[in-house]
Amino acid sequence: MNYRHAFHGGNFADVLKHLVLTLVLVHMRKKAAPFRVIDTHAGCGLYNLASIEAENTGEWCNGIGRLLAARDCCPGEVSRVLAPYIDLMERGFRTWAGGMRELVRNPGGPLIERRLMRDDDVLIVNELHTKDPDALAELFHRDRQSTVLGLDGCVALKALLPPKERRGIILVDPPFEIPGEFERLANELHVAPLDGDSKELVATGVVVMNPPFTLAEDLETVLFCLAEVLGVQLRAVGSNRWIVAEGAKA
Ligand code: SAM
Repeated sequence: MNYRHAFHGGNFADVLKHLVLTLVLVHMRKKAAPFRVIDTHAGCGLYNLASIEAENTGEWCNGIGRLLAARDCCPGEVSRVLAPYIDLMERGFRTWAGGMRELVRNPGGPLIERRLMRDDDVLIVNELHTKDPDALAELFHRDRQSTVLGLDGCVALKALLPPKERRGIILVDPPFEIPGEFERLANELHVAPLDGDSKELVATGVVVMNPPFTLAEDLETVLFCLAEVLGVQLRAVGSNRWIVAEGAKA
């Protein structure tokens, strides 16, 4: 396992993934019944943007850095959809003496999930890397609503289903170390042409199974603007499409 998310936390792919995660969680909160979140590839939960790893790639500058810098220029409808996500990201700012604000932290999936849970909701975060479960355990220290596991993600998922609450969200976010996995997702949001010669990640995607009915419309509203803000070259594109339409027979 070579992948370390500390190099990539807050990049454009995190922005799309965490925005979708936030919108799904906000929707789940509308019903009073408790829900369970199972996060199978959780990372370490919180990323220091001044760490050696983050500074080494600087990826967050073209992701969450760009979005927060441009947030006041987004049209009203786009801002409305982005608002719950932006609110969470705003907590990563530190204000220095003299009033200067600097973005120093970026929440990973587990912290976003935890911050949007209510008192009866439950979180299970799983991460296989040797160090990250310790970081997660520290983050959720004495939190009676959260459990931290250090298993293989697929093994954990099988063991944890079905959730007792019968309502829940499962986030499966593997590191894509296996060749060919990127291409399968490349049609969703790309921030530079796919036929370009970039050696860096230029495309990302999130597949949502059984999405909240509001999600497609919300994504239609923001994806064009998001691609413009995050695009590092001309021809950045964001699109939302159904793989299997709702109500269609399998
Ligand atoms: N979901 C996180 C977030 O949004 O903040 C980022 C996760 S990162 C893309 C993928 C994570 O999967 C890495 O932290 C990696 O250590 C972990 N990982 C790799 N193989 C795994 C496996 N078989 N089971 C569980 N976790 C694994």
